[in-house]
Amino acid sequence: MNPICRHCSKSKVNRPRGLCWSCYYTPGVKELFPSTSKYARRGVGNFTGSAPLPAAPTTAAPGSPEKLAVLEQRAKMKQAIFHPADARYEGDPRPLEFLKGHSAATAGMACVA
Ligand SMILES: [Zn+2]
Repeated sequence: MNPICRHCSKSKVNRPRGLCWSCYYTPGVKELFPSTSKYARRGVGNFTGSAPLPAAPTTAAPGSPEKLAVLEQRAKMKQAIFHPADARYEGDPRPLEFLKGHSAATAGMACVA
């Protein structure tokens, strides 16, 4: 009852889509695995891609405690876990550039960590 991660084949599955924690939260990996498995509906992160995007991307680096907190928050809000403009690495300007371009729409709603 402890399937192995479909991506790295090393860690136990403890995230949806048959992925381990680190693979699931590695940008791009989750997208490789459609949420067709029964693990897609387990725990927080309990939705399959139809959820609305978060109001704003986060500057928190992948894997950081801040990022995990943001992911948790999004899951609780029934939002998509990932935002396309989320930082891909520490200091990634992507979310800030996104916010610059959308400052009117996201005013007061930013969840930049
Ligand atoms: Zn893995």
